[in-house]
Amino acid sequence: MSTTFTVDEPRAFSALDQEDDEGFLYTRWGNPTVRQLETKLAAMEGAEDCRAYASGMAAISALLLSRLSAGDRIVASDVLYPGTAELVRHTLPRMGIEVATVDTSDLNKVEAALQEPAKMAWIETPANPIMRLTDIAGVATLAHDAGAELAVDSTFATPVGTRPIELGADYVVHSLTKYIGGHGDALGGAVLANTDRLEALQLEATVHYGGVLSPFNAWLIMRGAATLPIRMAAHEAGALAVAEALQNHDAVTRVIYPGLESHPQHDLARTQMDNFSGMLTFGVDGGQAVAERMMKELQVVHYAVSLGHHRSLIYWMPTADLMESTYHLEGQQLDAYHSYAGDGVFRLSVGLEDPEDIIKDLTSVL
Ligand SMILES: *Cc1c(COP(=O)(O)O)cnc(C)c1O
Repeated sequence: MSTTFTVDEPRAFSALDQEDDEGFLYTRWGNPTVRQLETKLAAMEGAEDCRAYASGMAAISALLLSRLSAGDRIVASDVLYPGTAELVRHTLPRMGIEVATVDTSDLNKVEAALQEPAKMAWIETPANPIMRLTDIAGVATLAHDAGAELAVDSTFATPVGTRPIELGADYVVHSLTKYIGGHGDALGGAVLANTDRLEALQLEATVHYGGVLSPFNAWLIMRGAATLPIRMAAHEAGALAVAEALQNHDAVTRVIYPGLESHPQHDLARTQMDNFSGMLTFGVDGGQAVAERMMKELQVVHYAVSLGHHRSLIYWMPTADLMESTYHLEGQQLDAYHSYAGDGVFRLSVGLEDPEDIIKDLTSVL
């Protein structure tokens, strides 16, 4: 937990003069406990290296703000985690960065958007909250042909399911708060990439923006990460059982889970995901009223945001509200969102409870 470390020879005071092999000096620059987590995450992702941050959003803003400058252009998925979607749409343009948002599940649209020069392409797969997938290898080829780097938010998939670096991505980001930590008790985030890219990130984002991970959280997240493979197997099995039960329920209009054959991109899910994860969405008629019943009556599933925890978590995501606050989609893009989500979806993170208990709990309020 130490914030500072004794030095045995004179050291430069500026991060600009920092050498790689000088050892630890101050925890904002680097810390042995955090470093241990970074080393493990890099091994899990098949990445050269990793930098950990205080939250998923700290990792995402570190990467976007340090990599992009005024006059640059980014092509980003039109459906992303709301924090990222708002940062991309509201903050980047204010810094003079041009933003093009496209439905990245359609490679033709990605190719068209990359006709104009871009520094970076940004995707999230599966994408919050509609569980839409993007073909990572396909977008990597298009991005590289256009001279752009590809960043993938792989939080929903986890390295157990998908390893984007192997598929050609240049950066992978995670909210460690979710599956990797896995217990709902520590915020954290990570950026994974090759050593050169992370050295640039280290100086500007880690040392100067300073949104670093606490060593205490690094320790909690490492303890959680040790069980990630067996937790993901259990999350997947539970999610499949719950998805099938909901699909057969009269009150449910639609279930979207990559592991179901009914997912519009099930074939891509089978090639790109070794584990379908524990995230699914479903629709019902009169979602708002059902949400209110859930808040009062659920016994096993918690009505709360976040995901990837041992506990099942559910939240109502109404389409109109999200469009107004976050996505601002129109025309074809709005139609494409509607085709997944209708007027809204319940986003369900299937936890590690007995799937029969989860099904019984949910069907009691449907
Ligand atoms: C939660 C989440 C984030 C943000 O992570 P925090 O740790 O909450 O800052 C980013 N992307 C995805 C896909 C997420 O689910």
